[in-house]
Amino acid sequence: MKIGIISAMKEEIQAILNVLEVRKKSTKGMRTYFEGTLFGKEVVIVFSRWGKVASATTVTQLLNDFKIQEIIFTGVAGAIQPEVSIGDIIIGEELYQHDLDGSPLVDTYEVPLLGLRSFTTNHENRIKLKRACEDFFDHIHNYLDHDKLVQFKISKPNIHIGAIASGDQFISRKEQISSILSGLPQVKCVEMEGAAVAQVCYEYNIPYSIIRTISDNANQNAHVDFPKFAHEVASIYARAVLENYLKV
Ligand code: SAH
Repeated sequence: MKIGIISAMKEEIQAILNVLEVRKKSTKGMRTYFEGTLFGKEVVIVFSRWGKVASATTVTQLLNDFKIQEIIFTGVAGAIQPEVSIGDIIIGEELYQHDLDGSPLVDTYEVPLLGLRSFTTNHENRIKLKRACEDFFDHIHNYLDHDKLVQFKISKPNIHIGAIASGDQFISRKEQISSILSGLPQVKCVEMEGAAVAQVCYEYNIPYSIIRTISDNANQNAHVDFPKFAHEVASIYARAVLENYLKV
């Protein structure tokens, strides 16, 4: 059983590489694939870069070059629901492409020829991931000190399982959010890769999970301290959740 782990954040990849027993490293198409053992499991780790094309090509290469039986995608995302806050975790259930519109040929959001408006992640792995996140949040003070949590305004972080919308836009304006929510009112957060990875995994019939740490509220402050959040918070989250998930 080999698991492919893809992240859209360099900082997360670095945090995982710090604990990966690397066996082999190969570079193709401007991506570096690290094979090795992570918390007792065989894995291949790669930084996808940002956006749907970047992540779709990365996951395709990963599936074709390595015998991968499961994909986990991690990264950060912007919250677009009032109950979702910075520091929360979203475990994707349905993945939509909010900027895909082939109407009137097909419905808005529908992926041409697949006849699907969204892709659904693997149920069992979703439950396993939720447990891994709960275990992390129960012990969050062992990973992030009080000052750091205060600094990033993280008090009682929550885990949400729900819809995620991906698109090739960084969302930072009210009008963008209203436009996404008018068509997809159930979406909890926005990002730039999840649905693309989901589509490729669906087409290859490989189970996949999408997990996101909320880094911003998709508003005018969304870009503020991005690398700092990725380095000091999201990378800690990704490493801890993966440890709990893989060690089971
Ligand atoms: N420029 C930043 C990081 C890139 S932002 C830096 O210098 O580190 C793009 C990444 O953040 C993508 O992986 C995307 O999926 C995610 N993301 C986080 N908040 C987002 C938002 N509000 N809208 C779209 N993507 C977001």
